[in-house]
Amino acid sequence: MTTTQQTALVTGASRGIGRAIAQRLARDGFTVIINYAGNVASAEETVHSINANGGNAIAIQADVAVENQVSRLFRAAKNINGQLDVVVHSAGIMPMAKITPAALADFDKVINTNLRGAFLVLANAAESVRDGGKIIALSSSVIAKSFPAYGPYIASKAGVEGLVHVLANELRGRNITVNAVAPGPTGTDLFFNGKSTEQINAIAALAPLARIGTPDEIASVVATLAGADGSWVNSQVIRVNGGFA
Ligand code: NDP
Repeated sequence: MTTTQQTALVTGASRGIGRAIAQRLARDGFTVIINYAGNVASAEETVHSINANGGNAIAIQADVAVENQVSRLFRAAKNINGQLDVVVHSAGIMPMAKITPAALADFDKVINTNLRGAFLVLANAAESVRDGGKIIALSSSVIAKSFPAYGPYIASKAGVEGLVHVLANELRGRNITVNAVAPGPTGTDLFFNGKSTEQINAIAALAPLARIGTPDEIASVVATLAGADGSWVNSQVIRVNGGFA
């Protein structure tokens, strides 16, 4: 059987921004693979929300920082329609830790998930995505702010942006675009966890638009990069943040 349906793999799609990206790409006609770390119920909720609306989604567990789990994820993704068209790497964590000797374990954890994870996902995407396909990684607009306690997280995302630019260059000749989307504060568990209402309001007030963003507002930019309208955008970091930075 031949199929014209394109496949998109979205890491960290059980919740938050990744979920909104998966739902949007499904609406745009992609078969979507919902990757997650351990939250089966949320992953199934994402799958159900897509399939109930006439889309096509399946969930695959894999820790993005574990080599054999990532290669298994990509093999499975490629097998669905015979080729992989789009990879969006949204999985990530954001523990807060100041730059102190006691915070080394937090640093190692963030670098392992966010930077080693990005290296593994981008590396497998480079091998698996078809010529003419698209690769998109999530960075963060907070890089420009240098807030206290964001050191490990900012270091990891600065690394992600570096990988994106280099990979775009390495894929010369294959017509594959590689870009990053760097959200400002966006209403998800990752943003809300550990913050008081006062802290949330203070951060929301920083952008000229004076509010936090929604996962759908990030997903619409990712969808542009993943579709035909994004064909000339390559090796860019698109900051989607209401003017936050
Ligand atoms: P959430 O905490 O809402 O969701 C995180 C997602 O990543 C979940 O699906 C989670 O799976 C998955 N995940 C976490 N660790 C791993 C892992 N090791 N392997 C596979 N999947 C994993 O985060 P957001 O949606 O807010 O963040 C998405 C991306 O956007 C991140 O890269 C984040 O750094 C970035 N970002 C977010 C901003 C915000 O304000 N929200 C701002 C700027 C950037 P599970 O459910 O199984 O735990």
